[in-house]
Amino acid sequence: MKYVIVMEIKDITGKEFESVDKTVALLPVGSIERHGDHLPLGTDGELPSFIAREAGKRLGCIVLPTVWYGSCNAMRPFPGTFDLDQDALYKYIASIITEAERNGIRLLVILNGHGGNATPVQMAARAATHRDGAGMAVVALDWWKELGTSKLQLFKAPGHAGEDETSAMLAIAGGKVKVGDAIRFDAEYPRARVYSKAIDRRIYQRALTGDATAANEDSGKELMAAAVEDLVSLVKETLKALGITAERKLDRDRR
Ligand SMILES: [Zn+2]
Repeated sequence: MKYVIVMEIKDITGKEFESVDKTVALLPVGSIERHGDHLPLGTDGELPSFIAREAGKRLGCIVLPTVWYGSCNAMRPFPGTFDLDQDALYKYIASIITEAERNGIRLLVILNGHGGNATPVQMAARAATHRDGAGMAVVALDWWKELGTSKLQLFKAPGHAGEDETSAMLAIAGGKVKVGDAIRFDAEYPRARVYSKAIDRRIYQRALTGDATAANEDSGKELMAAAVEDLVSLVKETLKALGITAERKLDRDRR
């Protein structure tokens, strides 16, 4: 019988790593930041980690350990937020990319789960793939904006710890959600991206935007399933566009 092993690199030996298919690796990136009073601080890492593990099972590819810290300016005033310096994050991600390439990965898909990481992650992807001698490809996704959107419109509002994110957490880690502390807060967003502490303070008065009380596990399950499905197709399409065919697969039946 064929069964699938998730190849989380932290869980396999170097000898096993030598024999696995290194065509594709998935890298979740999150943050440790306040998510209202009801979601865990690591929410932004939990969600892409789940998507990567599930898509990894389907694709038989490598799943790299999650980068749990992120760059979190807006949530900085709230206890529990670790706001990484964005240059440090940029360099850290760029180093992971170059090390992935040195280890034989040909396509690295970064699943970013936090808005404040988007710029440093994209800059790292650009720099690492365009330096002299680089040959690998990187896809940098803000998963909640780019995966599963063709099927669902759940993430229609740019909420933080709101309905969508809470639904998704209820679906994958319900025990970590303090439902009784969920609230609704309707923030007013400026029309353009305004870099201002004052505006951030106004939007994130409660470290939450949207209606977390409307969250439900079923929508979250639907959303996560759509995101996983979409990631699997995206990886296949990208490999095709790059003209890459997967190498020998891990001999799963022997394990
Ligand atoms: Zn979040």
